Amino acid sequence: MSVFDELIGQQRVVELLREAAGGVGMTHAWLFTGPPGSGRSIAARAFAAALQCTSAEPGCGVCPGCHTVLAGTHADVEFVRPQGLSVGVKEARELVARAALAPSGGRWHVMVVEDADRLTEGAANVLLKAIEEPAARTLWLLCVPSAEDLVVTIRSRCRVVALRTPPTDAVAAMLQSRDGVDPTMARFAAQAAAGHVGRARRLATDKAARGPRAAVLAIPSKLSDVGACLAAADELVKAVNAEAAELTTELDEAEAASLKEAFGEGASVTGAGRGQGGAAITRGASRAAASALKELEGRQKSRATRTTRDALDRALTDLAGFYRDVLVLQLNAGVGISSTDREAELRQLAARTTAESSLRRLDAILACRELLDANANPLLAVESLLLQLRAG
Ligand SMILES: [Zn+2]
Repeated sequence: MSVFDELIGQQRVVELLREAAGGVGMTHAWLFTGPPGSGRSIAARAFAAALQCTSAEPGCGVCPGCHTVLAGTHADVEFVRPQGLSVGVKEARELVARAALAPSGGRWHVMVVEDADRLTEGAANVLLKAIEEPAARTLWLLCVPSAEDLVVTIRSRCRVVALRTPPTDAVAAMLQSRDGVDPTMARFAAQAAAGHVGRARRLATDKAARGPRAAVLAIPSKLSDVGACLAAADELVKAVNAEAAELTTELDEAEAASLKEAFGEGASVTGAGRGQGGAAITRGASRAAASALKELEGRQKSRATRTTRDALDRALTDLAGFYRDVLVLQLNAGVGISSTDREAELRQLAARTTAESSLRRLDAILACRELLDANANPLLAVESLLLQLRAG
């Protein structure tokens, strides 16, 4: 057993990180890159654990050092997970201030920044200064989809660890050995998730996760006329919103409740019957509570937008996978299709349409994803996309 076990099909990366944790090629800033689902943050977390490992074999996975890092409770390893659309200057400054502290007991003070591509330009500049003049025992592990997602000034100071899309076979094997999934389902889930390990696991183990995918893959056969396209767009956007709401509502409510507990009732009880001094405290406390609540609402709104956008992007990725399969069949490309559960339908469409039209459809999906990334109205963007998919 080792902290690197979760990294599927990344032997080269594992070797590099093992050596670095042992002291070979150590540096203060690391950049973990790789497509979504390839395991960037898993790799960063495993590396952080190996760096705090107290056994002779770095990353043993069982010593208290490894164990607490993996559980997220090690005092000298901080995980920064931006939940909103961006990380601003204020947050970056706080982060840099905490990072400057010497480790409390471990060898290194490790800051793991997931989704570092969400740093604003100002925040990136704050971080750059910290990386240019690093505290002696502080390490930065930054995770981004690709190195181009970070300003070149930061990028050039980092050692890059590039993860690749794990092969389908490796993902299927992992689902079988670790999650006890039967071989047919493991194969199906690994193919359908196209190298996204977390997604493959959800598809294999959670029946509810297969519903949205099935709904998305049913779209191409529904686009008979303009009215049907608009209806399908409306349905997809509604389903995505519902999926995102389900993911965020519970979290939002828990956060609001704990904020109220910290401020609300406590403040009014203290103020009651204590004369004017007490009343002043109450007014001050309620102002602070109102401002904290407003800040929380802002963060939650940003997270909700992000979650909805991510859910829609997953749906469009599934849709692109469908047309990619059609193209594979049309070109007789000799590679496997991912939606083996829909082979008959794919073959029909492949026979009825041309490879050129499949390419145009894939381009349209890509363009739609870019529009959404640039803040386009989701319903309008999806309507326009489905009309293009119908036209071919
Ligand atoms: Zn260990």
